[in-house]
Amino acid sequence: TTKGQIIKGKPVADKISENLIKEVNDLSKEGITPKLAIVRVGARPDDLAYERGALKRCQTIGIETEVIELEENITQEEYIKAVHKLNEDEKVNGILTFRPLPKHLNEDIIKYEIDPNKDIDCFNPINISKILENDKSGYPPCTPTAVVEILKYYDVDLSGANIVVLGRSMVVGKPVSMLLLNENATVTICHSRTKNLPEITSNADILVAAVGKANMVKEEYIKDGAIVIDVGINVDDQGNLCGDVDTNNVLDKVSMITPVPGGVGSVTTSILASHIVKACKLQNNK
Ligand code: NDP
Repeated sequence: TTKGQIIKGKPVADKISENLIKEVNDLSKEGITPKLAIVRVGARPDDLAYERGALKRCQTIGIETEVIELEENITQEEYIKAVHKLNEDEKVNGILTFRPLPKHLNEDIIKYEIDPNKDIDCFNPINISKILENDKSGYPPCTPTAVVEILKYYDVDLSGANIVVLGRSMVVGKPVSMLLLNENATVTICHSRTKNLPEITSNADILVAAVGKANMVKEEYIKDGAIVIDVGINVDDQGNLCGDVDTNNVLDKVSMITPVPGGVGSVTTSILASHIVKACKLQNNK
């Protein structure tokens, strides 16, 4: 078998986008245009970067967009009011709320206020629970979904595969583990208290790394011929963007590995777009 194949996100994103363009075209024949509303508090560089990518992707596909920019010092009441307004706006099919919210806004209260049917990035716990129930009517978070879509695009057999997920956050680790379990993989979840980490990860047919530690995963963590999905986005000592996996160190051992940048991160906005189109269709009884 070939070793060291770098599997990029772009072809995955392109394929998803192509299909969406057709779907949006069909909807437009009936006078329907999907619409995304983004709720942003302040102007954090991370949020702005993701927003630019999302707006560009939506534009390419033909999804309308609206950005609600809220003052940094907005009250919880006002924030909830802004969300409710979008819940009730019939033109808006999907709502993306940038997180984490500023400290003075209580996420544990606010997350229940977004209409689960418009919650295209899995903020409302109803959408989390749908992942656990393997109920496909919901909206799992975009990054974990991107991981699964990349594996499927590159024809990786997930059924019965021995998968180790590094990380157990609500953003990546936990949901991606459940999504992979729903694909009939045998999933092991590791975290900062896991003992003998390399011993466990080196049994994995597929390793998903989402720890947020630059280049932490080295050769001894990897089973010969394993497939590695590197979700991490970190900055190394030289100031360069890098993943959780030391790609150069493991390249001879892996069969396939996603790059950083250009891997998982480049698929997320197309997943977001697919959720908006799905929400639009459901809301229009299509
Ligand atoms: P968190 O910091 O929320 O979670 C990190 C997880 O990794 C925790 O569960 C933690 O364990 C575990 N962990 C930390 N250190 C170790 C260690 N030394 N050994 C084993 N496990 C460890 O990060 P996120 O899940 O939000 O993000 C993970 C990475 O993915 C980050 O680099 C982030 O930038 C990136 N990311 C990329 C996205 C993309 O689109 N590609 C989107 C979102 C995130 P414990 O629970 O015990 O603390």
